[in-house]
Amino acid sequence: MASGWWLELVRVGALPPSVMVDLREDLASLLHSEVQISASVLDPDPALDLERRQYLATELLERLLDPPPAPGARRIAVAAVDLFLPVFTHVFGTAQLDGQVGVASLFRLRPEFSGAPQDAGRLRGRLLKEVLHELGHTFGLVHCRLPWCVMAASRLPEHIDLKDSHFCGACAPHLAPSCATEVIS
Ligand SMILES: [Zn+2]
Ligand SMILES: [Zn+2]
Repeated sequence: MASGWWLELVRVGALPPSVMVDLREDLASLLHSEVQISASVLDPDPALDLERRQYLATELLERLLDPPPAPGARRIAVAAVDLFLPVFTHVFGTAQLDGQVGVASLFRLRPEFSGAPQDAGRLRGRLLKEVLHELGHTFGLVHCRLPWCVMAASRLPEHIDLKDSHFCGACAPHLAPSCATEVIS
């Protein structure tokens, strides 16, 4: 593996396995790293907040760290349940900044969630960008000011549609430190 890291995707709960297969294919075509689907499935129930009827994203991150990922590896969980953090009504995903794990959910990314017609292609694109975004956070990237960069903040799913499924020239080198060193002259 030229870039020295790889990505493991973990399916959460009732997410259809076909979503993981499509996502892995999309990520593998974009990243210069190995992308694998974990054989284990993460149960979201321990993260359920009964009052909010949502799932605490940081609790899922904790569970993703057991057992710990191999040094350098990244592990991203993909869910179909509604995620939240205590200070937010909901989140599309979250990740350890400069860490190894993240989680993303398609729950609110479905076009029909905001009253639009079902659109499998749009949903697939949104999930890809959300997973890339959380992956970027694990490499220490914060939100990018370029609106088309995948690291730009998105408050609404429609904002995700406006982004590319790529990191801008300033963000991209963070995912491949060894390559970045080589191009500095
Ligand atoms: Zn973010
Ligand atoms: Zn950027």
